[in-house]
Amino acid sequence: MVKLMNAKQYEASLRKLKLNVYMFGKKVENPVDEPIIRPSMNAVAATYEFAHKPEYEDLMTAKSHITGKKINRFTHIHQSTEDLVKKTKMGRLLGSLTGCCFQRCVGMDAMNALSMTTYDIDQKYGTEYNKRFLKYLEYVQENDLTCDGAMTDPKGDRSKAPHQQFDPDMFMHVVEERPDGIVIRGAKCHQTGAVNSHEIIVMPTISMREEDKDYAISFALPSDAEGIIYIIGRQSCDTRKLGKGMIDRGNQIYGGHEALVVFDNVFVPWERVFMYKEWDFAGQLVEQFASYHRQSYACKAGVGDVLIGATQCVAEYNGANKASHVKDKIIEMNHLNETLFCGSVACAAEGHRESSGTYYVNTLLANVCKQNVTRFPYEIARLAQDIAGGIMVTLPSEEDLRSPEVGKWVEKYFKANPDVPTETRMRMLRLIENITMGTAAVGYLTESMHGAGSPQAQRIMIARQVNMDEKKRVAKKLCGVSEDD
Ligand code: SF4
Ligand code: FE
Repeated sequence: MVKLMNAKQYEASLRKLKLNVYMFGKKVENPVDEPIIRPSMNAVAATYEFAHKPEYEDLMTAKSHITGKKINRFTHIHQSTEDLVKKTKMGRLLGSLTGCCFQRCVGMDAMNALSMTTYDIDQKYGTEYNKRFLKYLEYVQENDLTCDGAMTDPKGDRSKAPHQQFDPDMFMHVVEERPDGIVIRGAKCHQTGAVNSHEIIVMPTISMREEDKDYAISFALPSDAEGIIYIIGRQSCDTRKLGKGMIDRGNQIYGGHEALVVFDNVFVPWERVFMYKEWDFAGQLVEQFASYHRQSYACKAGVGDVLIGATQCVAEYNGANKASHVKDKIIEMNHLNETLFCGSVACAAEGHRESSGTYYVNTLLANVCKQNVTRFPYEIARLAQDIAGGIMVTLPSEEDLRSPEVGKWVEKYFKANPDVPTETRMRMLRLIENITMGTAAVGYLTESMHGAGSPQAQRIMIARQVNMDEKKRVAKKLCGVSEDD
């Protein structure tokens, strides 16, 4: 492979992987060309393609702090708050160009979190995780790899800790220690972009206690390591990608995918192990990854840009764009969308340097950012559906539009603004359907709700991070109440 791969080289590199992928109960021999998976590969390929465009170079590339070479920003360790802000802008840019989840952020966020946690473990225990990690990072940077950041375990019975589970595999754990490495078993759920990745970086999913130390592990594996199995998740409307009609797909180029990734007794050599039974650091790694990923949700403002553009077009195609309530609803969509972006910019701009040298986001603001993301895309989608009209869900297929028997009726009765062809209106409605209830809604809605932690996880962090004592102190002072009251 070469440095700063382009889209074609990325695709070729995926073809060399021997992944064990299943979908609809059958083995997928060639995931790259599989029509349901292919659009998600196109979206990751965009992270390579746009790094070569001069107009995006500043956002899409960075200078490696290890080698000084130019690298893709998705493999970069943030060296300043400016880097953090550029990461936010890169996420919005890519969301606005693809209209979907481009998947590569999880690996970037995992690597940045590990650059800090491995350093801190070494400080406490005199281990050498950071050195190992930096060597691994250099390999990722030099080969411009896409990494899946794998955090979410199946978790089993939510009321029980990892060691109390009815099945020990509900959380990833060590099953054997060897002189040359460890053997691990478990699974990671909802893995965004898993089969488009060269590497998988595994982290614990929750804070741990000493009894759970066999579960406090972090490591990296090539995505085609022996014993890894991928089971692709179904998405609403996914089989539209198998039909003849391109219009019915909505987004004709890009998409996302998730998979259940099973690790069935997989060997990990020591040089790829970044945490091993240091249970007291599991919570820190989770929190750091989650905070970075909560910042990453600037991507949703980018997808929001596409949805707002599509909604404005449909209003025009319907002849409704001059109605004052339609104009006001589109203002509301923009207001919400820019507010999403504000949170991501703010947590980046308010970031700070950690002792490892990595720049870390402001965690309170990152959690506020993600909390907004669990709500606003739903409201933006509601307004888009309001303006689009019921036709978005009752529209006949492209094959009906092309039919010699009924095509003329579809053409005639689905024309609104006489200057706009029916097909144009259908295309835009399908795009709105795709983002608000089709395959892209996985990323724009449910992923917004649960990705990087469900809403309650952010509320707990917000409660922990606000300086309540200071707020109370000033309130008491201003109204003449003593500090003790
Ligand atoms: Fe990146 Fe957004 Fe997809 Fe998460 S949802 S991987 S932040 S594009
Ligand atoms: Fe996510």
